Amino acid sequence: MTLKIYIDGRFHNREDAKVSVFDHGLLYGDGVFEGIRTYDGLIFKCKEHIDRLYQSAHALMLEIPMSKEEMVEAVKKTLKENEMKDAYIRLIVTRGMGDLGLDPRKCSKPTIIIITDKIKLYPQEFYDKGLEIVTISTQRNIHESVNPQIKSLNYLNNILAKVEAINAGVEEAVMLNSEGYVAECTGDNIFTVKNGSLFTPPIHSGVLRGITRGAVIDIAHLKEIPIHEEVLTRYDLFNADEMFLTGTAAEIIPVVRMDRRKIGDGKVGKMTLNLISEFHKLTKVDGVRF
Ligand code: PMP
Repeated sequence: MTLKIYIDGRFHNREDAKVSVFDHGLLYGDGVFEGIRTYDGLIFKCKEHIDRLYQSAHALMLEIPMSKEEMVEAVKKTLKENEMKDAYIRLIVTRGMGDLGLDPRKCSKPTIIIITDKIKLYPQEFYDKGLEIVTISTQRNIHESVNPQIKSLNYLNNILAKVEAINAGVEEAVMLNSEGYVAECTGDNIFTVKNGSLFTPPIHSGVLRGITRGAVIDIAHLKEIPIHEEVLTRYDLFNADEMFLTGTAAEIIPVVRMDRRKIGDGKVGKMTLNLISEFHKLTKVDGVRF
């Protein structure tokens, strides 16, 4: 069965799902998106993702021409159309078609696209044995330019970092902010474990308010694991007992080496394994049925 893609209320076969070359999403990266997962017929953290999409759009003064409830219905409809129970949803809202100038006022109507597909970011081996990552030199955007909290279609800051990671022969990179503090990886938030406590950089370090990050923080509170949103340096990462990354697509992935330093004993840690197991339990209950 060919994949059906939702564009502005209609379904198109994968090969026919196209947008205009005058769409400002393409011309300027002017638009917002979300990556959402479903687990066995449940849209995980549905409200959180939809809220973040509308907040990103609001920050760009991009008015999404449907209510949040209608958006959830459109997502459900696309999942049903594709008969998918376990999917990765890419929800995109662009500024729409305009002319070749920047002016968003010339774009009459945002384009809404919903793709439901599968995603596997890393081979299973990395989940079993842990990732190796490096620090790269591209700084995370500062709030005064493109705020990292906006999940926009302009991901060049992250792509530049990803290119550096690939050049270094690894899959992921630690991005620092303009002050040299740890921000996040190219598409994932960072956590460390030290002496039984969890640490993650605060939002003001220049990170996306990750929904998986939020889920891990909630699990920590529930399990009475001390959790600190604290400014971190590379030194703190090097000397952590454990490290892991969080993201919708990656879920929770352990890190065992950074900048050629072993993290902890260089093996996937107990706390990380525990959190992975708790996270999987959460995916079975926290979401909207479709
Ligand atoms: N940081 C960045 C830059 C991201 O793009 C993402 C999403 N892939 C994350 C963190 C993780 O966020 P979430 O858990 O909401 O997917």
